[in-house]
Amino acid sequence: MFIEEVGLKVITGPMFSEKSGELIHSLNIAEAYEGKKVIVFKPDSETRDGKCRVISRTGLVRPAVELPEMITDEVIERTIKLCEDYDVIGFDETQFFKGKIVELMQALIFTKRVIVSGLNMDYEGIPFGKMGDIIALADEIEHRYPVCACCKKRRANFSQRLSNGKPVTVKGQTIQQGDKESYEPRCRVCFVPPTE
Ligand SMILES: [Zn+2]
Repeated sequence: MFIEEVGLKVITGPMFSEKSGELIHSLNIAEAYEGKKVIVFKPDSETRDGKCRVISRTGLVRPAVELPEMITDEVIERTIKLCEDYDVIGFDETQFFKGKIVELMQALIFTKRVIVSGLNMDYEGIPFGKMGDIIALADEIEHRYPVCACCKKRRANFSQRLSNGKPVTVKGQTIQQGDKESYEPRCRVCFVPPTE
């Protein structure tokens, strides 16, 4: 467990690795057992979780403050001000933040304990958003792995995009009306990357 007073911990992995759950768990512990003041942010574009809360697939929930997906100097300034009265700062679905998210991290991690959760790679198997840069800054990385949904043997590091249960083979392919889009965690051997 990450108990440094200041610094950056990143919780990452593919879909279904219970990253948000681990984030909420870490924040709850800091609050309940260390008496820390905790705030958690999420991008306002992210809709799966509903508004103004972080929720894990296993059912853990925490209220969250929404930030614009595009991090500008103005957003950085506003967020730093918001964080003044808090000791521990969480970020969920961090892969969706664009613009100056790395600069925002840099502005916080020398005076706060920051815990970030986000997908490692997108469905094409390439680093998602600024997650690679954020991972490079981290003092501690918790890489989580579900078991591969395909072979059910190896650990999964990829998020496979599916249409009607079959891998999507073309980049940016739109899912036809009536077809069911879904994702599953897959290992490097079973992962099928889409082509141009
Ligand atoms: Zn596999």
